[in-house]
Amino acid sequence: TTPMLAINDLNVTYPGQRGLFVKPEGFCAVDGVSLSVAPGQTFGLVGESGSGKSTVARAVLQLAPVTSGQIILNGKDVSSPKGEALKSFRREVQAVFQDPTSALNPSMTIGDAIAQVLKKHHLATGTAHEQRQEAARLLDLVQLPSAIAGRLPSELSGGQRQRIAIARALAVQPKVILCDEPTSALDVSVAGQIVNLFRDLQAETGVTYLFISHDLGTVRHISQRIGVMLQGRLVEEGPTEQVFANPQHPYTKMLVASTPVADPERQRLRADVRRNYGSAQLAPRGSEGCPFRTRCPEVMDICHSKLPEVEKITDGGQGRCHLLKQERS
Ligand code: SF4
Ligand code: MG
Repeated sequence: TTPMLAINDLNVTYPGQRGLFVKPEGFCAVDGVSLSVAPGQTFGLVGESGSGKSTVARAVLQLAPVTSGQIILNGKDVSSPKGEALKSFRREVQAVFQDPTSALNPSMTIGDAIAQVLKKHHLATGTAHEQRQEAARLLDLVQLPSAIAGRLPSELSGGQRQRIAIARALAVQPKVILCDEPTSALDVSVAGQIVNLFRDLQAETGVTYLFISHDLGTVRHISQRIGVMLQGRLVEEGPTEQVFANPQHPYTKMLVASTPVADPERQRLRADVRRNYGSAQLAPRGSEGCPFRTRCPEVMDICHSKLPEVEKITDGGQGRCHLLKQERS
C-alpha cells in the first residue's frame, strides 16, 4: 500500500552566520532521514532533546528550512505546496504539541476555540446550534463532557487542555497528526491516559500519526514502527517489536535496556547491559566518525574515522552502524 506519509532523504540545515554560536557553514539539524508511515498506523520517533526529531516534524509542517529531500503525503509530493495545495495541506496535516496552552486564547471558551478552527478551514457550516452539536461531538470523541464547551482554558487541567488540542486537530478530519511530545508535560498516569486516547482515536477515525517522544517506553504502546535519532540522523528504524526484541544499533540497545520491565531477572540483565556503556558525552557534532563512539562498548577502529552510512537491516529496517555492514558482508 502507498504510505500515508513518507519522508525521503530529508536534510534540514539552518543557515549560518558569522558570530559566536552559529558557524558560517550553518547548523545541520537533520541529515538524510527517510521513513514512512502506513495509513492508520503510527511511527514513533525517539531521541534525546536536540537529536532533530522535532525538526523532522517542523519540516513536514513546512516550518523548517528543508535543503533537500521530499515529503510525500498519500503519494503526492508536498515538499513545497503553494496556493490551494498549501491550504488543503494545512488541513490534512495537523499537529499536537507538548504545551497545549500556547495554542489556546485564555479569554475564549473551549466551544469558541473549537468553532474557531472550523471557521478557519471553512468547515463551520450550518446554524449556531449545529456548530454547537459538532463541538459536542468532538468533545465526546476526546472523552470530555459537552459542558466543558462553556469553560475557559484556565479552568481545565493539563490533561483536559491536551484533549482540547487533540479535538481541535481532529476537527478538520486530517489524514496525519504530528504529535510532538504530547505527553511529556503531563503526570505519568495522565500521560498514559492520553496515549490510550490517541490509540482509541486512531481506531475510530483511521488517522495516521508521527509520534515523537524522548521516551522509548512511551512510543512502544502506540507505534507499529520506531525510529531512533541521534545527532540529526536516524541510527535505527524498524518494526516496533523487532527493535525491542533485537535492537541492532548499540545506542538502541542502551535505550531498550533503560526501559523498565516488571520481571526482576530481566531487569537485572538490563542493568548489566547498561553498565557496559560509559557516561561520556557524545562526540561533538560535525566531527569525523560515529557520534556514539565515545560511549559504545562495541567501538572499532573504523568508528573513529568514518561516519556509518545507512544500511538495510532485516524486515525492511535500516540503521547506521559499522557493525551492520560487517554482518552483511
Ligand atoms: Fe558503535 Fe561503531 Fe556502531 Fe558507532 S558505528 S555505534 S561506535 S560500533
Ligand atoms: Mg523537541
